[in-house]
Amino acid sequence: MNYKRFIFAVIILMIILLGIYFINGDQLFNDKDKEVQKAEGTEFIMNTFVRIRIYDKNSEVILSDTLQKLRHLENIFSKTIEESDINKLNYNAGIAAVKVNKHTYDILKESHKFAEMTEGSFDPTIGPLVSLWGIGTDDQKVPSENEIRQVVGKVNYKDIEFLDNNRVFLKKRGMSLDLGAIAKGYAADNIIEYYEQIDIESAYINMGGNVSVYKRKVDDSLWKIGIQDPDQSRGGIIAVLNIEDTSVVTSGNYERYFLKDGVRYHHIIDPETGYPAKNGIISSTVISHDSSYADALSTSFYILGVEKSFDLVEKLKDIKIILVTEDNKAYVSEKLKAKIEFTVDELEIIYR
Ligand code: ADP
Ligand code: MG
Repeated sequence: MNYKRFIFAVIILMIILLGIYFINGDQLFNDKDKEVQKAEGTEFIMNTFVRIRIYDKNSEVILSDTLQKLRHLENIFSKTIEESDINKLNYNAGIAAVKVNKHTYDILKESHKFAEMTEGSFDPTIGPLVSLWGIGTDDQKVPSENEIRQVVGKVNYKDIEFLDNNRVFLKKRGMSLDLGAIAKGYAADNIIEYYEQIDIESAYINMGGNVSVYKRKVDDSLWKIGIQDPDQSRGGIIAVLNIEDTSVVTSGNYERYFLKDGVRYHHIIDPETGYPAKNGIISSTVISHDSSYADALSTSFYILGVEKSFDLVEKLKDIKIILVTEDNKAYVSEKLKAKIEFTVDELEIIYR
């Protein structure tokens, strides 16, 4: 009797175990078979419309994590958010060192490196000139020469001091940081790093002209990224780039500018003169795996002009460029030839 009961119990146990196995196995099978889901989102972050497309089994969760991370970076990098690291540093310029978030320390270190590389044409301490011109406000104006002369002296990346413990000191009173030319690129790199860590299928991030793509499209084809036409009378795009795992950043004078007495003043300032850069370039695009690199350089090429920009690119790895000039020429890195298709006839294309 006891023996029979024992056999019965063993059989019941086996049925239960088999049941568990089938339920779990079935779930396992379903998971593997689940289609890659697309999640799409748009949000106004860092003064621009950020558009994101994610392809993965968990795309919705990854999308909300992505937006969360971007909002966090905006909160520490923004000049206008009172509690941001950048605002605290600016407020304490010439007074005290400030302990900042690791991201703030890193972006400032990177900015410093790019400023050295471009001999100061990219300068994260451009803040006083940006404020003087009223860039990004409803109150844009042309300052007097005297005002400009006074403020130019406050712009110098060499006056950023990096201390231990993620502390930073702005050495001079009246100095101020502005990360407008690099923050979006840094943010995109941070998000792509996160995608690499969790190994997602594919993604596209567009932060107002800063585009980063992760891997290829889900059908294994390359991403087609349009390069905006700086001539607004034509509108549309000048070329299509076929890329994977890369960032494409364009700086132009056609989106953020104001008119005064028939003169167009745009938002990229030459730190040396204190005036908007005027070197014949109307649009500068940089293609690189590193988006903060691309962002900072696209801004500074605008100031450096065609010749100096290509001189610098020759010394760098993983940087390809497209510079469009006022006289309807497009200077293009030779290495892009196989990846780019121009879609307009009006431009003379010069590979170099
Ligand atoms: P966008 O914000 O239109 O993508 P950019 O990446 O070229 O353009 O950055 C321009 C912004 O960077 C300006 O709005 C200003 O905040 C800041 N800036 C302007 N001139 C410089 C400069 N020489 N170096 C660093 N930052 C600059
Ligand atoms: Mg930039």
